[in-house]
Amino acid sequence: MTAEVIVDIAHSDVDKIFEYRAIEGVREGSRVRVPFGNSAADGYVMRLKEGSDFDASKLKTIERVVDHALTAECLALAKQIAARYRCPLALTLRLFLPAEMRRGKARELYKTVVTFAKGGELPARAKAQRAALAYLQEHSPCDRAQLCKQFGLQAVKALVARGFAAEHRERVTRSPYEEVEGAAPVRTLTPAQQNAVRAVCTAPQTVQLLHGVTGSGKTEIYLTLIAAALSAGKSAVFLVPEISLTPQMLSQLRARFGRQAAILHSGLSAGEKFDEWQRLRTGEAKIAIGARSAVFAPVENVGVIILDEEHDGSYKSETNPRYETAQIARMRAEYNGCKLVMGSATPSVESYLKAKEGEFGLIELPERINRRPLPEIVVADMRREVRRGNPSPFSAALREEIAACLAAGKQTILFLNRRGFAQSVVCRECGAVVKCAQCDVALTYHSEEHCLKCHYCGAAYRMLAACPACGSVHLSYTGTGTQRVVGELKKLYSSARILRMDVDTTAGKEGHYKILKRFADREADILVGTQMVAKGHDFPGVTLVGILDADMSLHFSDYRSGERTFQLITQVAGRSGRAGEQGKVVLQTYDPENYILRFAVQYDYKGFFAHEISLRRATAFPPFARIVRVMVTAEEDKKALEALKEVYFSLKELYDAQREEFLFFNKMRSPVRRIQNRFRYQVLLRLKGQGEKLLPEIYARALAFRSRGVLVYVEEDPANLS
Ligand code: ADP
Ligand code: ZN
Ligand code: ZN
Repeated sequence: MTAEVIVDIAHSDVDKIFEYRAIEGVREGSRVRVPFGNSAADGYVMRLKEGSDFDASKLKTIERVVDHALTAECLALAKQIAARYRCPLALTLRLFLPAEMRRGKARELYKTVVTFAKGGELPARAKAQRAALAYLQEHSPCDRAQLCKQFGLQAVKALVARGFAAEHRERVTRSPYEEVEGAAPVRTLTPAQQNAVRAVCTAPQTVQLLHGVTGSGKTEIYLTLIAAALSAGKSAVFLVPEISLTPQMLSQLRARFGRQAAILHSGLSAGEKFDEWQRLRTGEAKIAIGARSAVFAPVENVGVIILDEEHDGSYKSETNPRYETAQIARMRAEYNGCKLVMGSATPSVESYLKAKEGEFGLIELPERINRRPLPEIVVADMRREVRRGNPSPFSAALREEIAACLAAGKQTILFLNRRGFAQSVVCRECGAVVKCAQCDVALTYHSEEHCLKCHYCGAAYRMLAACPACGSVHLSYTGTGTQRVVGELKKLYSSARILRMDVDTTAGKEGHYKILKRFADREADILVGTQMVAKGHDFPGVTLVGILDADMSLHFSDYRSGERTFQLITQVAGRSGRAGEQGKVVLQTYDPENYILRFAVQYDYKGFFAHEISLRRATAFPPFARIVRVMVTAEEDKKALEALKEVYFSLKELYDAQREEFLFFNKMRSPVRRIQNRFRYQVLLRLKGQGEKLLPEIYARALAFRSRGVLVYVEEDPANLS
């Protein structure tokens, strides 16, 4: 037999099949050690076949089989992904293995156990042996290390030698979140939930979009679908934006499915990751739960794939290959002939458009469980607060509500929008935002050069001393920090117990989890945080949500600002009033007339969508166009610039030949000039439609200019353009 092997070296020169003579035990999907050049390398067996395309007598022989890491589905998927994202197959295959395992840094953990074999006479002077045997008779099997500590190594050895005890090695599985004990009842589905489950199973499309308002009981629908897959003898993949942010979800899954659920995420130790992965690979565990990378989980015979909070930005990979999780999930669903269920209270406009056009099935849950009302959103006009001389980050309305909430013994979440630290400029008096003259997107302040830049066309503008709309000098550049908010809160409500959650306070494994757990256990009255508090938490004690700066994300220099703002407000608001009591939300803004805010306050997703989609159509932005950024970086500025020029001229040929396909084409320095010591340049393109016709050629031309020290990569519809 001949094995077609991809060698695990991520270099385009070796990105091809090498043939080796197979040895006993090699399968398709095996990881193998092969002779390569003057040494040896790891490789993946893509295919086994009779005969060879080369001179069979010259083939080298596989040295040994490492394991059988990859399933048939992995191999098929890897080829598809490599082709789609023009990425070396070796690099793509790596996605399917925990990195620590690939580097040989994680292995099975074993311990030796000692068992009682038989009783019997021991010499009187062998006191330790007699004691150990007596102990073992009561406590067999025992951990050998512990037994030795108690009775001495010699005694244990002697017992084994005399046949009174036996030793053997046993596999230890390390398992994360063991302390997450579950107490989640299996609920009777409401008629709306039943209908949704039925619709998922019967609809013809592979992808089903579940658009359900916050608190409509989507989780219960997912769990039912997973249970159904399991009872059909299949497995399931459950993807969430960030697993450490969803302790309730974890405990629910653990309670419902026990050890059948395995958790994959970056916060685990190498050993835990390895063991959870192995449990899935062997089929011991059947449900893979995790963030983005869990889409590559080694489960076979998948019965359903769930992608929760499908609008979330974390589903896009930030390293090569820059895949979109939903795209991979869809490939897997098609491969397995199962459904991909994408759920959200605020679907991305791309997905909702596909659902409206019939490419995806559409299931709507317009009401919360038990017809519980959605929380009322009160708008606080911060311009008036400024005029009244209120310098604090809280409006009068919010202060009153916090006091009332504290008095009632309920919990409050205060949300600060601080993503994207480079800020745009907003007038604190009239609410105007400074925009690019050509692109109608907000400009971003660059402190290094002390200027304002447009991230879509590269134009730079001088800094402003006053608002171009009203002349006020009260321009603001940065939002208020969480720390300051906590300080002000302490001054106002000295007895309130406050928790802060942001990147500074959540370091370390399970950092988020700990804070959320404390809040869930009612150890605090107020939780102050950034984006992390907006995710799908279900805290029954929360009846008030304050959104301190609703506008900040409207001003991000991004065509998706409006969409993101709508999503954020809806998601954060959705944390309020989820149990018995009616919830309330105070939304603070300098721009109360803004249409995005008006739709959000009414929970009018459809209105928002209709408006947003016509705007995208009119301005030719995604999903009616595709933005492509070709990044070129190098440690030397000159080297990066030279490479950029080459890339640019190669792409320009394409542009000149097919100008009608382009909406924008130019080269420029990247808005952030240098990251991690590498200078950054880019070619920005905006293509008509989905750009399918040109994308392969763009990838090929751009990637051809990779060289020693120069990185070139292509991003499609990048999440940010900094
Ligand atoms: P979503 O994910 O849509 O925001 P959840 O799944 O968190 O909503 O459900 C909201 C609340 O309703 C949760 O507290 C959940 O326990 C409860 N719930 C869900 N389904 C049912 C049901 N069938 N009967 C009673 N309560 C339910
Ligand atoms: Zn102004
Ligand atoms: Zn511009």
